[in-house]
Amino acid sequence: MDYQQILENIYLKIQPYAQVGKQADYIPALANVDPDQFGMCINTVQGEVFMQGNATTRFSIQSISKVFLLAMCLSFEGEELWRRVGKEPSGTAFNSLVQLEVEKGIPRNPFINAGAIVLADVLLKHLKHPKEDFLRFVRNLCGNDSISYNEEVARSEREKSYLNAAIANLLKYHHNIEGEIEEVLHFYFLQCSIEMSCHDLSNAFLAFAHYSPFEYGEIKLTSSQVKRMNAIMQTCGFYDEAGEFSYLVGLPGKSGVGGGIAAIYPQRYSVAVWSPRLNQKGNSVMGIKALELLTTETEDSIF
Ligand code: GLN
Repeated sequence: MDYQQILENIYLKIQPYAQVGKQADYIPALANVDPDQFGMCINTVQGEVFMQGNATTRFSIQSISKVFLLAMCLSFEGEELWRRVGKEPSGTAFNSLVQLEVEKGIPRNPFINAGAIVLADVLLKHLKHPKEDFLRFVRNLCGNDSISYNEEVARSEREKSYLNAAIANLLKYHHNIEGEIEEVLHFYFLQCSIEMSCHDLSNAFLAFAHYSPFEYGEIKLTSSQVKRMNAIMQTCGFYDEAGEFSYLVGLPGKSGVGGGIAAIYPQRYSVAVWSPRLNQKGNSVMGIKALELLTTETEDSIF
């Protein structure tokens, strides 16, 4: 497969969408990002790497970090984890709290904010040095020791965290947060603020494309757990646009409001794409289009 040629074709074909949507601005620091950027990177399981556009520019990964969070929590807790969070698509926005009231503080899945806030609480219990340990895991996954948090973005989000604070309070009320709300939210915002490029993300997600035992320092997953993580990405990775993403793209993946999307073709490749302009659901307009073109041009998706 000539992935480099495919990436070039995709780049040309997405140009009509270059001005559609706008970058997230509810996190003030993200509103300053130049919206007119696009990057994409594919890593094959054979070890080849293909890049296009701003593939080495770092951006805020935001909710893509929820995949790293889930990998760590599954490694520590195994199936026990599912007592505190579900694995059903939410059908609601990433920051919705309506379902929490009805379902007594058990978030629908780990990839909406409520679920990830519970997972942040779980990790705080297991890690001696949460901030350092989480970063070390992400650095190990992508093989890049220069990856870091952007504490300015985390602080900017914390200052305007009315909705996430409401979610955390509702979780605490239903006894699904053990730690202090402030501490849990602080850790959650830090994770979201990690900056990576498409190249870094695609490297990191390659670990989920191999169905062989996963071992990065103390974080270990069986190949069955990796397969199940992909199942959750497929059904829950794009909030209330998960069905549409499956329909258009047909790969498990995860998006973030920084405009990044990472996706996986199990046993074949990982791919990351980034463009800051988002649609109404908080997913990158050009990112989704580019991935749709990828599985169309290659005439191949998991379906
Ligand atoms: N930090 C963001 C938030 O909590 C992450 C949301 C996202 O990327 N969808 O709102």
